[in-house]
Amino acid sequence: MSASILDGKALAADIRRRLTETVARRVEAGLRPPSLRVILVGDDPASAIYVRNKEKAAAKVGITGDVESLAADSSAEELRQRVEAANADPGVDGLLVQLPLPEQIDPAQVRSWIDPEKDVDGLHPENVGLLASGEPRFVPCTPAGCLALLQANGIEVSGRRVLIIGRSLIVGRPLANLLSMKGVDATVTIYHSRSRDLERLGPQAEIIVAAAGQAEFLRAEHVAEGAVVVDVGIHRVDDPAAPKGYRLTGDVHPEVREKASWISPVPGGVGPMTIAMLLKNTVDAHGRRMGVDGDG
Ligand code: NDP
Repeated sequence: MSASILDGKALAADIRRRLTETVARRVEAGLRPPSLRVILVGDDPASAIYVRNKEKAAAKVGITGDVESLAADSSAEELRQRVEAANADPGVDGLLVQLPLPEQIDPAQVRSWIDPEKDVDGLHPENVGLLASGEPRFVPCTPAGCLALLQANGIEVSGRRVLIIGRSLIVGRPLANLLSMKGVDATVTIYHSRSRDLERLGPQAEIIVAAAGQAEFLRAEHVAEGAVVVDVGIHRVDDPAAPKGYRLTGDVHPEVREKASWISPVPGGVGPMTIAMLLKNTVDAHGRRMGVDGDG
């Protein structure tokens, strides 16, 4: 039997629709619209595409966005000044610095410069700590998107065995904190590059989240019959049969579809959810700054 699809594209569209209504209501009430500033350092083509997609998605829900571009050879000090200017700007609700950064700039330092109240990526140490202590302010966008995708499809997480493959700061670790939080209540195992025995641990899991950044590495033998599989990975692989000569794929091998009960596709699964959660975090930041709650 083929797995049902965790349709991130449709759910993200739904979330964007609700956010559009929230923004319109606030503007009607006389507030300025939410705003998102993105700082892009260098000319990495993939980063430029990600930033453009974020900008477009923000504009569609009524968030005003602007992108500040810095040259690839910018110093850490130049970037710090831009971050501090955005921190001090009362017209900026959400601020993010697009990754990866050129090698002369330490991303850990940059994360700590961003005003934690504007940190819509949820990567400032204060926000990491708040999530770890079970009282999140901003949940990083990809983990938030994974949980929303499960919940919206009625998939019970509480009490279930979840295997998270990957322990990065942006995906694996915050997802483990989120899923093991009181009220979410999953039983979480983190698997990483020094872990062993995926053949044993994989089939014990009721839910697997694959975020190792390795194309199609999760195989049917790693997955129990009927498990739920969330595929975070995104890779462009050569495919002479495809019209463009390549196709997009995830961390999960296509054969897993025949074994899982639910699976998120690539593209159209976690990717659109990540952007939707960035918009949600920005609207939430605006709401807090303007003193209006939730959907208000
Ligand atoms: P990182 O490279 O930062 O982290 C990968 C993690 O996987 C590390 O913890 C690493 O272990 C672990 N790992 C690597 N190889 C293996 C292996 N063979 N077995 C077990 N664990 C392994 O990646 P990210 O977390 O940033 O991203 C992961 C994937 O998700 C990428 O494909 C990325 O493109 C995609 N992504 C997709 C997003 C979306 O919106 N759809 C958003 C963010 C990422 P160790 O810590 O030991 O090195």
